[in-house]
Order: sequence, then C-alpha cells, then structure tokens
Amino acid sequence: MKNKFLNICAIALGLTITGLGTAQAQLGTNRQTFTRADSLRGSLTPLRTCYDINYYHLDVKFDIDKKFISGSNLFKFTATQNFTKLQFDLFDNLKVEKVVYEGAEIPFTREFNAVFVTFPKTIKKGSKDEFIVYYSGNPTIAKRAPWDGGVVYTTDSLGKPWVATACQGIGASIWWPTKDHQYDEVDSALISISAPNGLKDVSNGRLRKVTDLNNGYTRFDWFVANPINNYDIEANIGDYAHFEGTYQGEKGPLTLDYWPLSYNVHKAKKQWELDAPRMLKSFEYWFGPYPFYEDGYKLVETPHLGMEHQSGTAYGNHYKNGYLGRDLSGTGWGLKWDFIVVHESGHEWFGNNITSKDVADMWIHESFTNYSESLFIETYYGKQAGQEYVNGTRKNIRNDKPIVGPYGVNMEGSGDMYYKGGNLLNMVRTIINNDDKWRSILRGLNKTFYHKTVTYDDIVGYICKQAGMNLAPVFDQYLHYKDIPTLQFVVKDGKLYSKWIANAEGFNMPVKVRVKGGGYIFIKPTTQFTPVKIDGITKDNVEVDTFNYYIKVE
Ligand SMILES: [Zn+2]
Repeated sequence: MKNKFLNICAIALGLTITGLGTAQAQLGTNRQTFTRADSLRGSLTPLRTCYDINYYHLDVKFDIDKKFISGSNLFKFTATQNFTKLQFDLFDNLKVEKVVYEGAEIPFTREFNAVFVTFPKTIKKGSKDEFIVYYSGNPTIAKRAPWDGGVVYTTDSLGKPWVATACQGIGASIWWPTKDHQYDEVDSALISISAPNGLKDVSNGRLRKVTDLNNGYTRFDWFVANPINNYDIEANIGDYAHFEGTYQGEKGPLTLDYWPLSYNVHKAKKQWELDAPRMLKSFEYWFGPYPFYEDGYKLVETPHLGMEHQSGTAYGNHYKNGYLGRDLSGTGWGLKWDFIVVHESGHEWFGNNITSKDVADMWIHESFTNYSESLFIETYYGKQAGQEYVNGTRKNIRNDKPIVGPYGVNMEGSGDMYYKGGNLLNMVRTIINNDDKWRSILRGLNKTFYHKTVTYDDIVGYICKQAGMNLAPVFDQYLHYKDIPTLQFVVKDGKLYSKWIANAEGFNMPVKVRVKGGGYIFIKPTTQFTPVKIDGITKDNVEVDTFNYYIKVE
C-alpha cells in the first residue's frame, strides 16, 4: 500500500532509481485500479469541502524509547456550507482517543485512514467553529525516508536519539490527525512537540516558547504564521545546536536560523552559510521575494536526505556538494553547490508558496524546482552552464508514463516530472526567446499565486497569457504523454519540408533550426508537412537546436 505512492521530494532520481522502479512497475500493471481507500484519501467529497481549515494546534509528545506518540490536534475551521458530518484523516494504526466539541465527546466512525465525525447540531455555512482530536499510538516507521515516509527513529554518531518526520506522498495523517488533502492549506499553525529532556525539537516557523513540563519532557512551541501544506509540518528531535544570520533580501532583513547536530556546527557554518545566501540571492532574483519572511528561513539537519519542509528545510546531504557528492547532470556543474540546500529551498517558491491542488500535478512542484537548479547555476556560472546542466540531466529521463498522474486518488505521475519537466521549462524559455519576459513570468507566477493552491490550467494558462503565445500543446505533449515529439524532415520536389509527429492535438511547437554552422531561425512546423523557408537549407545541412530542445529528429 505504501509503495504505491511515489513519495517525495524529488530528490527522487539519482540514487533512488531502484526504489522508484519497483513502485512504478507496480503502478504499470494496475494504475487504473483504485480502491475505496485511495478515493477517501485523494478525492474531494462534500465531507471535506464543507469546511475550510483555518488553524491547527498540534500538540504531540514523542516517547522515543517506546516509539510511541500521544497528543491532540485542534481544528479551527470555517464552514463553507451547512453540515453535520465531516471527514478528517488519521492512519488506522493510530488510535483516536476521543473527539471533543464544545467540551463534550462526539461520535466518530472510521473507514481505512478516514475518520468521520458527527456533530450534535448543524454547523452553519459561514460560521467559524472548532473541535479537538485526541490520539495516540505507534506511528508507521519510515522504511526509506523521505521517499517511503513516516517517522524516522535513529541515533546520531554519538549515540544520542535522533527522530524526524517525513511524510510527503504518504500523507501527514501517518503521524497526526489532519485534513489530508493538498487543496486546503491551513492558514497558520502552532506546533507543540514534547521531547525527552536534553533533546531539542526543531519544527516549522518560529520558536515561541520552551517549557519544562517537569515530567521528563520539554515542550517546544513553534508558530507558523503563513499557509502551510500539512506534509510540510515537521518534528525533528535531536541534540541540536543553533546559530543564526540575516539576509538582506527584497522584503528587508530575513532571519536565517541554522540547526545542525551539535557536533556538526563547524561543517554547517562552512556549507550552509555559503549556499543558503547564494540560493536566496539567485531565487529572489528569478522568482521574487522569499515567500515566508514572517516565519524566517531555516535549515535543520535530518537523518534522511532532505525535504522541503516550509520555513524549516530538512537537510541530510552530509555537508557535501552535489547530491550526496554526485553530479546528477554529469557535466560538472552539479558539484559546485549543495544540491539539498538549493533544491529543497527552491520548493519554498514552487511547492510551498505555489502548491498544486492535487498531487497528480506534482510537476508544478518538481519541474520548476528541478529547473531552479539550473537558474542557480546560471546566476553564478553563466547561462551556458545552466543550460548544460539541464541538458546533462536528460540521461535520467525514462519516458515511462505521463508526468501528470490520475486525479482524485492521491497519485503522482512519472518521476520524469523532475528532469523532463526541467527540460520542458528550459524549452519554453527558449521558445519565448526573451529572458526578461521569462523572468517576469517566473516572478509573476509567485506573485499571482502567492500562498495559493493551483491547478494545471492555472499555471499553463498564466504562462501562455503572459508569453502571448499558445504554448498549451507543448505542455500537453510533455506532461500528458510519455513520448517526446519527433521533428521529421522530408524532401519533395527538391524542397525541404518539416512536420511534427506528436500526440498532443494541434502540436505546433516553434523550433530553432539553421543551415549548418549558421544562425538559428525559428520555424513553426505543424502536424502537416510545410516548407522550411530558410535560404539554402537542405536535408543534409539542416541542424536543429537539440541542445535546448528535448525532441527526436528524423
Ligand atoms: Zn523536490
């Protein structure tokens, strides 16, 4: 069941291709067969849309020795219609102790990982109300975080307990009661994590208060002032040290808080204090202001590779450049920066600021964030270097199935959302052929959809409108079909003709071609043969810009 989800942050490929391959092989045989449990988790029924979540106070104690958690979550919501019953989510291996409304317990039923609560009276449309869920149990232990998530229990190299949560894909309801669907972000949240004395918890947002509970535990209250995805909410418990800095950004001073393990302060100062500000400078230029100034920017060392936990980026790259010391592009450009600092922080703009309503559109998170890696390179090493990186990552593309997954069942599409998605965006930039406009589109996306959840059409529609070009068939081909288009050339009556062979209706991507050694010129082939109107061009001397275009040519 868990393997069905292609979790994660995308750090997916690379080292993890074996794991993904297994999951996808399973998908390949039954991807259209979804269960009632899938629908309960992934679809929007009136039992979910009847309330808009406003605020959570998650209050959880971690008994690390017993791998046992217990606590409560307060749901504050606004009713979007009259109702008496609603759904929230909590994995069925965790016990719902009770649900309390207006001081009294109210009835609930459970089906798979869904919990249905019935109120003693009609909750009226427009009213603000609240209830508290008390729960406990041994949460699922992550098999392979962050991809196959849950709670990670381990020890640091000095033998001290080290605990982390990572639950993208599988869902936050694997460890706490929540409305577990991406379309509805809570507006703000208080996260209270109680950890055994001597350890610290690092969660999202700002640390408000530390309280000795006089029972062997210390509670850490973290407040997030901005909308946040529930899979981003994190607990990280360990022997942490703390140092801080400030970045003078587009919206003024941005606080930087760094939480390495106590014995890694020296390494963290060297690695994080270099690449975090470099990342912020590059991404504020390309994408606009960091989206969560109120909550600050944070890096926290984790026992898993990394996750885009909002205003508390999880980091487990061992203070190495590249992806655990490797260059995913094979060009050398991937070794000049810390992959996890850059990639996971890129999600603050694409994933955390702009969030897809359905995980089927996870490309909105991963394609743009993959592409952000090349923009980081461009900022420091030039445009050519950035594009070499994009081009180099093509070796990781599988073209196994569409990037957009099936809607309503909590299922992502192909892992090609990373590298193929990055190549798609670089191609779109090439077609727009105006870097100022391209940058204004990237910044405009983050401004227009600031702190919002979005659909495929929102994003593609915005880009087309701002570009003044109908790029919809391009996105359609690369996101909805597994195959890439073929540009075909033929000679008829001594003249060169071209056409596209593609799946997307009306596919008409402008493409750069030239007479060998000359300057590139845009031509606009359709799915019918049309003459290539370039002086002196022949089947033998035609060259296509396959460096920037990820296409086949024949
Ligand atoms: Zn990612």
